[in-house]
Amino acid sequence: MCRHLAWLGRPRSLASLVLDPPSSLLVQSWAPRRQRYGTVNADGWGVGFWAEGREGPARWRSARPLWGDPSFASVAPVLRSGCVVAAVRSATVGMPLEESAVAPFTDGRWLLSHNGRVDRAVLPPVRDAESTVDSALLAALVFARGPEALGDVVREVGAADPAARLNLLAADGSRLLATTWGDTLSALVTDEGTALASEPWDDDPAWTDLPDRSLVAVTPDGLTVTSLDRPSRGAP
Ligand code: GLN
Repeated sequence: MCRHLAWLGRPRSLASLVLDPPSSLLVQSWAPRRQRYGTVNADGWGVGFWAEGREGPARWRSARPLWGDPSFASVAPVLRSGCVVAAVRSATVGMPLEESAVAPFTDGRWLLSHNGRVDRAVLPPVRDAESTVDSALLAALVFARGPEALGDVVREVGAADPAARLNLLAADGSRLLATTWGDTLSALVTDEGTALASEPWDDDPAWTDLPDRSLVAVTPDGLTVTSLDRPSRGAP
């Protein structure tokens, strides 16, 4: 299972988010601390971010492990952004190994990362998926329904495939949306902004673990968490 993170707040360097922390995504690519499925995340990595003077997000993806990308390490300290989504990938068995199968996926306005797996047979046919990987089909479905429907899509897909794990992380440049469904997600809220991450990138006690089956929204005004569990039928 992959590891992903997002940042919304004051612009900061991609190195400070992805490479520098003691348990950064870089370190998580070979030594994740909380990963339940898979041991290393060496099947590619990607980062998408909004930058001044450009309408949609810029993206850098690779089918190589993050530790094998010295060119990124050299530019990451000078790439700065206030809205970032990044991921390292541990491919699900049977899924394609290629750059286009690596998160974050985009439709030009949104970025989306998926930490988990889903039976592709339960997904409705979608157009414009970037790859045949389950995560790209799921991303195309979310983009087609509109990220506002993120919670509904996760509930519906989760009902159709009870074994699915559906931790999603999406951003549109001014807000983050995330779900927890089968894996961990933590949040760090500071004066500078808010980070969401599959696992904390350091031991700051301010990190909080978000409950499973939640919909998480982050705006410049703060973070809200809503349960995705519907009351059972007939409940008062
Ligand atoms: N199923 C996705 C893939 O194969 C994501 C895998 C993951 O979360 N480890 O890339």
